Amino acid sequence: MNLATSIESVKGVGPKTAEQLRRAGLNTVGDVIRFLPRKHEDFSEVTSIVDIRPGKRTIKARVEAVSERRVRRGMSVVTATLVDDSGRLQAVWFNQSYRVTQLKPDSKKPEEFYFSGEFGFRYNRYQLTNPSVEKVSDMPVQTDRLLPVYRSVQGMKSQLLRKILHELRPLITMLPETLPPNLVQREKLVSYADAMMGMHFPKTEDDIKKARARLGFEELFHLLLAARLNKDANTKLTGYAIPFDLPAVKRFVAELPFQLTNAQRRAAWQIIQDFEQPVPMNRLLQGDVGSGKTVVAGIAALQAARAGYQSAILAPTEVLARQHAETLEQLLAPFALKVGLLVGAVKGAPRRLLYEQIANGEVDVVIGTHALIQDAVQYHRLGFVAIDEQHRFGVAQRQKLLDKSQHLPHLLSMTATPIPRSLQLTVFGELDVSVLDEKPANRLPIKTHIVSPISAAGVYQRIDREIAKGRQAYVICSLIDECPESDKKSVEAEYKKLKNSIFGHRRIALLHGRMKPQEKDEVMNAFKNHDYDILVSTTVVEVGVDIPNATAMLIENADQFGLSQLHQLRGRVGRSQHQSYCYLMMSDTSKPSQRLREIEKSNDGFYLAEVDLKLRGPGEIYGRLQHGDLRLEIASLADTREIARAQRAADWFVTSGQNLLQYTQLAAQVEKYQRLTT
Ligand code: ADP
Ligand code: MG
Repeated sequence: MNLATSIESVKGVGPKTAEQLRRAGLNTVGDVIRFLPRKHEDFSEVTSIVDIRPGKRTIKARVEAVSERRVRRGMSVVTATLVDDSGRLQAVWFNQSYRVTQLKPDSKKPEEFYFSGEFGFRYNRYQLTNPSVEKVSDMPVQTDRLLPVYRSVQGMKSQLLRKILHELRPLITMLPETLPPNLVQREKLVSYADAMMGMHFPKTEDDIKKARARLGFEELFHLLLAARLNKDANTKLTGYAIPFDLPAVKRFVAELPFQLTNAQRRAAWQIIQDFEQPVPMNRLLQGDVGSGKTVVAGIAALQAARAGYQSAILAPTEVLARQHAETLEQLLAPFALKVGLLVGAVKGAPRRLLYEQIANGEVDVVIGTHALIQDAVQYHRLGFVAIDEQHRFGVAQRQKLLDKSQHLPHLLSMTATPIPRSLQLTVFGELDVSVLDEKPANRLPIKTHIVSPISAAGVYQRIDREIAKGRQAYVICSLIDECPESDKKSVEAEYKKLKNSIFGHRRIALLHGRMKPQEKDEVMNAFKNHDYDILVSTTVVEVGVDIPNATAMLIENADQFGLSQLHQLRGRVGRSQHQSYCYLMMSDTSKPSQRLREIEKSNDGFYLAEVDLKLRGPGEIYGRLQHGDLRLEIASLADTREIARAQRAADWFVTSGQNLLQYTQLAAQVEKYQRLTT
């Protein structure tokens, strides 16, 4: 028997059990062994009910009665009376309806259970809250051990896994080492076999601690070694060396209608230095909404053009591509450089002409949406690529654009969704990072308020006051059409409502993703020219849109948006010297979530990204990471100390010249992570 053996070959596993395991994704012996317990319960110390004191306690008791009660909105409370020879007490479970069936007393053969949970004074009485439950008859023979509790996938019980793992125990003790042995030694880790034994069959708390330390380290080591190898691979590539044109940069900066922030200067300088190397730059420009990333990309494009290289700037939406084209055209006008806009709306003869001008190098800077990566586009000495709001693009798209050049062009990825530092070191470890941690000097922090629908009238009044001062406002809804089944507001309905009553005296426009590109552009341009006071829009304005005169934003059904998305949306205001306001309208009068309260409190995208990481995990934050790409079961990306340790280990592994391919399992994991970001 080995790790690849099908689970059916394990003693005691019949077709029915095998089917149950398979539904939980466990097909082989190895799958079962690697299925780690989510926690351990200590059933070794049982308290009699008469002696119980507040704290984490385990009792051994029968169930006298059990009942369920529904309280407000979908919440259920199961209450049970537990008895042992010394007394009785009450246990409650929240939202665990199945406990009723599990615990229903059978008068003919009363069953004994272990209940383990927090005992304390809650809701006006002493009770055991949300205890875990184990049938005494299901417990392993030796009771002096810490019991692993497994995630119940598709109804598969911990008990079943414990039985199978017991059969596999001899195999587990002999599991081969998965990390380089000298690394295990260096880091003073327990062996893989010992770690797996420690997870499934711990004798002491210390066994569990050592097992977790070892397996957690291993998870992070995979990530950091992948990052390190990617970085090394990048530096071995050949790119174009683009010399620093000081006079051009000086002139560019002098012509700007504002002073660059120090952060912008620093970022531009880092890019200029990267450009001078014959190695392709792979840099992430991270700057909160409104921190002025576009002008930094402009300086880079100018440098490339002065050295005779073409630049391509990829934007996630047509609205944004057009905006960038206008901005850069202005910025680059003094240098007689030609900017081309390639978006879906450019069709027929004009499009063919543009293709030609790109191919023969007449166009210096090409700006567009994903139209830029279509096969028909042939670049001419493509030396610099900037990808704006790059988390919206897939890895494959980026690769395709890079493939259109002889050498890899210098790459600048720009994002307003900051990558928390831990992810930066791990998954994105091969990137160099520039941070715009400073907003232009004239900006006031946006004032954000969570509002309940009953105070809508007051919000409309305050928006109207802004408009009276000559400012503009956004109203954001998540839906396009009215939808009777949903409690979300739609742009169509809100637009009509606001236009016909509340803001009848103002000029209102409507924008959503199903409008034709040309219509969208017309509306955006008109709003930018202040032909409208209010723009009722879906989240199509979420990224990048820059209309400094807009100072108020109302987000309907704010509770239904994610944190980063709210921050992005809010970033459409606060782009000038005027005070800006953002109103987060709740769907109903219920209490606002932590997410909303965080965004009300903070304007700092970096802080909010850390919060988001804690609340939702890494996959949600950085769109490119698909769910499940990062399978960290034990390690935490919030654990900067362990990350730093794994990073040192990865450096040591590489510089001590070891052969990765010698370790099959390690190599496979690392390769998977390497592919994630290249
Ligand atoms: P983002 O980082 O969100 O992409 P943009 O590049 O769109 O930000 O810039 C936001 C606005 O700030 C633009 O109107 C831009 O002209 C302006 N801006 C950029 N840098 C500065 C600066 N140093 N001082 C004042 N305004 C600036
Ligand atoms: Mg931008």
